[in-house]
Amino acid sequence: MQTHFTTEQLADPKIREADEILRKCVHCGFCTATCPTFVITGDERDSPRGRIWMMRELLESPDSVSADTGYHIDRCLGCLSCMTTCPSGVDYAHLVEIGRGKLDKLVPRSLADRVMRKILAITIPYATRFHALLWLSKLGRPFAPMMPSRMRAAIAKLPTRIASLDPVGATTKSFSPTKPKIKRVALLAGCAQRALHPGINASTIRVLNRLGVEVVVRSEAHCCGALAHHIGETKAAENSVRQALLAWQDEIKNRGLDAIVVNASGCGTMVKDYGHMLAGDFELGHLAAEISSMTVDISQLLAEIGIDSIIKPAPDNGWPEISYHSACSLQHGQKIHDLPQQLLRSAGFTVTQPVNPHLCCGSAGVYNILQPDMADALRTRKLFTLRQTGAIAVAAGNIGCISQLDEDTLPVRHTIQFIDWASGGPSPL
Ligand code: SF4
Ligand code: SF4
Repeated sequence: MQTHFTTEQLADPKIREADEILRKCVHCGFCTATCPTFVITGDERDSPRGRIWMMRELLESPDSVSADTGYHIDRCLGCLSCMTTCPSGVDYAHLVEIGRGKLDKLVPRSLADRVMRKILAITIPYATRFHALLWLSKLGRPFAPMMPSRMRAAIAKLPTRIASLDPVGATTKSFSPTKPKIKRVALLAGCAQRALHPGINASTIRVLNRLGVEVVVRSEAHCCGALAHHIGETKAAENSVRQALLAWQDEIKNRGLDAIVVNASGCGTMVKDYGHMLAGDFELGHLAAEISSMTVDISQLLAEIGIDSIIKPAPDNGWPEISYHSACSLQHGQKIHDLPQQLLRSAGFTVTQPVNPHLCCGSAGVYNILQPDMADALRTRKLFTLRQTGAIAVAAGNIGCISQLDEDTLPVRHTIQFIDWASGGPSPL
């Protein structure tokens, strides 16, 4: 794609980066077919190609930007399916980040939108606050019809069954292995995950301890910063990133770490990108690059160590057939698609895949709260295809997808919970 930035514009490193990305796009349109929002609306402006065009316009000629541009760029899930499809290697992830940053300064958001984003940014990244918010929303549900429509839609997205708050991550703690130690890793306990599904961290620690891995959880690393980063709450995101980086640096210096392990793929994609995010940061740039290079999804660590030694014999009636939902942040963001399925198969499960596994379920961080109509349409499609597999349960590697898709008649659990079950832990079903 041709670009026409002025020399003055190109003095801004963000514009230079965007220029390089834009020039790679040959406008072939291969990405449109795999873009979930284009699949739903059929509107070019809801496709990656259309959004790339609009982002070039807004970056080159900021004066011409309209609310319409904001509307269609806001509808992008950030699922990165377009990056998997693109034959030219267009780095859409970083382009949309730059585009959204500029857009936020050019097109003021409505008061309701700003209030909603602020509420999300000051609650979800803090597990205790988010847990309290879940209770408040449950108590407030009978009054929802009297609330503004955005608030009503947000409450409808929050679960009515509330688990107890996950204690993992509340304080700094090490969990020792049950056999001779082979590795020592730091686990990111996460924020929303602790409030929504306390069993995931417990399963992760049990499985790693069985394999001989010591796990340390630092309470300061309470959130990866992804949620705030994606909704434009830059200051809040920077604080979370800084706290996590310094806590892990302290751990590396004092007791040593072999890896940073993440079991929520949305967070993993973010931590693996810290090096890029902070590339120009004099103080934290090197540390961020080091942390990103040490970060692995839980499935990568398990595949490296091998899980055969801890798997128990199948029960008399066998392990159930499960369907695997490939979270976008794992398959597109981190290019991990087959690994979790191979692990589940080595654990003894029969694993199926829904059709169109590349399509997003509509969760995408807080997208399901900010764009409830599109998110609902994608959820319905995904549940339909998952049910078509005939499986009795679903495995997924990201808390967002788990919360978005979980149903009484089709439970969705984390992949690690199934591996924990097959290696002597409790049934997640
Ligand atoms: S597939 Fe890649 S090169 Fe083709 S239009 Fe999409 S982003 Fe551009
Ligand atoms: S990130 Fe996802 S929703 Fe956004 S343009 Fe790419 S494929 Fe479409």
